[in-house]
Amino acid sequence: MRIFRVQSEQAKQPDNPEYFSGTVRQQRLNQTKEAGGVDLVAVFFAAGARTRPHVHTTDQVLTVVEGEGIVATERERRLIRPGDIVIIPAGEWHWHGATPASAMCHVSARPVGPTNWSPPPRDWETYMQGARP
Ligand code: MN
Repeated sequence: MRIFRVQSEQAKQPDNPEYFSGTVRQQRLNQTKEAGGVDLVAVFFAAGARTRPHVHTTDQVLTVVEGEGIVATERERRLIRPGDIVIIPAGEWHWHGATPASAMCHVSARPVGPTNWSPPPRDWETYMQGARP
């Protein structure tokens, strides 16, 4: 068994800052290359920071730890807050991050597998438009 604790003071610059817009720091919790293993990372988004659109090849679970954030798919934009747990199915276009007004931290849990970081951008630029609780 391994137990992790989210600690912002352990967070560092992301390895791939080009995957994000705005200021983001990451705390690597569990890192594995083993098939069936789970990658676990806490992501701290400053207000106005979010991922660029992407598509994972495995399901992704986002657990909100603090602040208010947003998660978007092709079809909807939802505000997320502490206690919310989001499942993004493998193959679904999406992005996630803070709102312009609030920082947000979530933990991402995902089985090992590649991610496509350059799918069509669609309406990514409009950010909060149409977001609902
Ligand atoms: Mn994602």
